[in-house]
Amino acid sequence: MLMEEVFERLREYQEILTKRVAIEHEVEDIPKALTAQEELLSRVRKSYVERREEFDGIEARVKDLRGQLAEAEAAREAAEKQMDSISTQREYEALNKEIRDATDREHQLRKDLQKEERVLAEVEELMRKDESMINLQETEIAEKSTKINLERDSKLGEIKSLRTEEDRASEGIEKEIIFKFERIIRNKQGLGIVPVKGYVCTGCYMILPAQFVNEVRSGNKIIFCPYCSRILYHQEAEEGEGDELFVDIESGSLSDLEDYAEEGEEEGEDDGFEDGDKDSSMDERDE
Ligand SMILES: [Zn+2]
Repeated sequence: MLMEEVFERLREYQEILTKRVAIEHEVEDIPKALTAQEELLSRVRKSYVERREEFDGIEARVKDLRGQLAEAEAAREAAEKQMDSISTQREYEALNKEIRDATDREHQLRKDLQKEERVLAEVEELMRKDESMINLQETEIAEKSTKINLERDSKLGEIKSLRTEEDRASEGIEKEIIFKFERIIRNKQGLGIVPVKGYVCTGCYMILPAQFVNEVRSGNKIIFCPYCSRILYHQEAEEGEGDELFVDIESGSLSDLEDYAEEGEEEGEDDGFEDGDKDSSMDERDE
């Protein structure tokens, strides 16, 4: 296979792979769409359980108060009946006190009961709200899940067919090269094959050693940028910047190149140029 064809295939492979990586990320993000809603649902469920417990407690208290109230009423009525059959002042006073006490107890119990019943109604209302919220969320989540699963299936289908295209594009190219190339594209989230313009890698904008550029120019084998690991190919410099870069290097002026390097991406790796940690082949020209 001619190098030109290899490069062409790699560019094609890159295009397909970039599409696939993007779709893979979308697939990874799909479950996140439901996370917030599922969290909400589990919060409401927890709240419902707590309210249910509260409700049961209040209900038991209400029942107990009703029992006490019935007892107090019965005690009062019994005492009132006895009023008909008393004969002494002392008996009358004792019975009268009994009736008053029973009446007071009744009043207090009625008050307590009303209060508890009010709270019970409030808690019940909140429970009902939780219930309808739970139903709503469950329905929505079920609907969304169905939609999401369809979406996922279709994306997985796309990924599968892109893989087939990738296999076709990479056919005949060394597996190891494809493996490295794929890793670069994933890591750099972008191009894995870039042209060299003048002495500059257009992937990382680092200046490449001269013998290195010559090797790229001759196009006999696949060469990776020593700084950003992208695959390099030679491209005739267009009129303008490329020529100037080339001429500047030849004439020994690096000022334009330094500007160029600063504008380039900063990946924080092998960024030796600005630190003065130049390749030895560059030092000769740097004088
Ligand atoms: Zn590079």
